[in-house]
Amino acid sequence: LASKEVKVEPSIIRISDAVSIGGKEIIVMAGPCSVEGEEQIIETAKAVKAAGAQVLRGGAFKPRTSPYSFQGLEEEGLKLLAKAREITGLPIVTEVVNPETADLVAEYSDILQIGARNAQNFALLKKVGQLRRPVLLKRGMSMTIQEFLMSAEYVLSEGNQSVILCERGIRTFETATRNTLDLSAIPVLKGMTHLPVIADPSHGTGNYHYVAPMALAAVAAGADGLMIEVHPDPERASSDGPQSLKPKKFDALMTKLRLVAESV
Ligand code: PEP
Ligand code: MN
Repeated sequence: LASKEVKVEPSIIRISDAVSIGGKEIIVMAGPCSVEGEEQIIETAKAVKAAGAQVLRGGAFKPRTSPYSFQGLEEEGLKLLAKAREITGLPIVTEVVNPETADLVAEYSDILQIGARNAQNFALLKKVGQLRRPVLLKRGMSMTIQEFLMSAEYVLSEGNQSVILCERGIRTFETATRNTLDLSAIPVLKGMTHLPVIADPSHGTGNYHYVAPMALAAVAAGADGLMIEVHPDPERASSDGPQSLKPKKFDALMTKLRLVAESV
């Protein structure tokens, strides 16, 4: 169902009245890795909106490598995201980590994110396939492109046609970056599927210095959008501070992004 052999025209996925992805406009989803509190999420939402982002991101249920790390504010985090949406008008994307909490997340969120660690959690993929919310599917860190598309197929085959693919870096021998952002996956996927493809240079590199160059490169490579972590005080972030942009740096990136977007 994801294949261009089944459907040639690009799928345009409606996120809200004002926002669709897969068309001409580059859609930027920005915000903190984790929702940490009211002031943090609302301040960040206002800043990313002012810079030109169309979607607010923020994790409420966090899939952490260590069980001792911050696990997210859970439902309280979802409520704060909804409040930020009310204030800014930005639709929200947040992660769903298991089938049990998927309905709850879908009540609050405009897009359901499936994280890299759950990209082959088939029970979860089937569950979100049954919900009526767009799904942002991240590539698993050791997934081939073929396997990535098969995971999308799990969602599509349950009846949910609104799937957005996200390249977020894969595991390689390289240790200079957290992951290796596979930029070539963008044109490869665009050649194989009608689904929109976005890139996440924040998780892809793990280092804020590299986020802007890789964001621009992803758009030049044909990405339909970006996911970027932004935090007002990255040094104090509960998760992923080292790869988070301060609002000012994000704003500068958005200015450059418009120039690249115009020329592709
Ligand atoms: C995230 O978006 O904060 C996240 C955990 O991403 P990934 O699943 O790509 O690691
Ligand atoms: Mn993160």
